[in-house]
Amino acid sequence: MTQRFIPFALPDIGEEEVSAVSDTLRSLWVTTGPKTREFEHKFVEFLGGGLEAISVNSATAGLHLALEACGIVSGDEVIIPTLTFTATAEVIRYLGANPVFVDCDPQTLNIDIDQVEAKITPKTKAVIPVHFAGLACDMPKLLSIAKQHNLRVIEDAAHTLPSTFNNVMIGQHDSDAIVYSFYATKTITTGEGGMVVTKNPEIAKRCRVMRLHGISRDAFDRYTSTKPAWYYEVVAPGFKYNLTDIASTLGLCQLAKAHRFHQRRAQMAEKYQKALKDLPVQLPPVVADPQTDIHSWHLFVINILPEAKVSRDEFIAKMSEKGIGTSVHFIPLHIQPYWKSEYNLKETDFPHATKYYSTAVSLPLYTKMSDDNQDYVIATIHQILS
Ligand SMILES: *Cc1c(COP(=O)(O)O)cnc(C)c1O
Repeated sequence: MTQRFIPFALPDIGEEEVSAVSDTLRSLWVTTGPKTREFEHKFVEFLGGGLEAISVNSATAGLHLALEACGIVSGDEVIIPTLTFTATAEVIRYLGANPVFVDCDPQTLNIDIDQVEAKITPKTKAVIPVHFAGLACDMPKLLSIAKQHNLRVIEDAAHTLPSTFNNVMIGQHDSDAIVYSFYATKTITTGEGGMVVTKNPEIAKRCRVMRLHGISRDAFDRYTSTKPAWYYEVVAPGFKYNLTDIASTLGLCQLAKAHRFHQRRAQMAEKYQKALKDLPVQLPPVVADPQTDIHSWHLFVINILPEAKVSRDEFIAKMSEKGIGTSVHFIPLHIQPYWKSEYNLKETDFPHATKYYSTAVSLPLYTKMSDDNQDYVIATIHQILS
């Protein structure tokens, strides 16, 4: 019998994407151009309007731009959760500022908002919440603390699209900037790519300038009538973070399918929840109120309980023997050698994230996975755990 192979994640790319990207290639406009502008426009529409969108070549680049535009400089402190990908932290170091790590709330796995307040010092300039797995943080609560202490808020929304909190789409809360990822495993993909959205025109302007070598389009526009077409002005040592039209074409196709993708993800998450509820596992946290909140279900994370006859590591190995890919999100940053030693972090200071990590495993959940393959994953988990 041939063994099945079910990878942990796959992008959902159809003939529409192949054909649209081919058209863009044939147009010979391959770098940032009309497709990118259209993608930014459609992205704002998707989030409900009233925003500016600045496309970038990764969420990491977007987080860097957003922090820079918020005026974060060397010596500043930026509060982040320990339960995130290293990109959330590294961008703070790009600017010479220092991340301050906070444990997760064991109920939601999002940053513990009460602890955010406890970690604020005179050097604290910003906070970056991460909507873990696609379950939105309590943004009104976090924003009210940030306002009291005059902190900037940049949301790491890499797992959202779409997620809502209290009926408000992530992207529409009053943060300074919200940053999305279109990495291959995310809910929509452009191969590599990301988007910064903001309601603040100053932040939007600075991100646009710094996205492309610090070349000011304003200076450009102001002079276009009198200066020749080849003329431009550099106003800062910017970066090279622009998104290509090839990627944006892919993004346009994916965005048009995003609601359908989400419906399928939600359906698969519900199926896992029903099928696994009697096993020795902790199921992932869900939204507080399904009437007002949407979980994107970017990830479906379970924890193997102590009464199970296998450890998390054994579980992952047994799944792999059966041809099923899994992953772990995330190895908390306070355990990673660089962050741990550089900031003298101790596991005992992050008890919830440490405990969560020791038993966590992410199950495959993506729109390309067939019902039959999900049934096989479920049956295999039952075999291993019961
Ligand atoms: C994927 C991810 C990022 C980085 O996204 P890129 O587009 O790959 O730069 C940042 N933060 C979180 C929480 C992520 O999961």
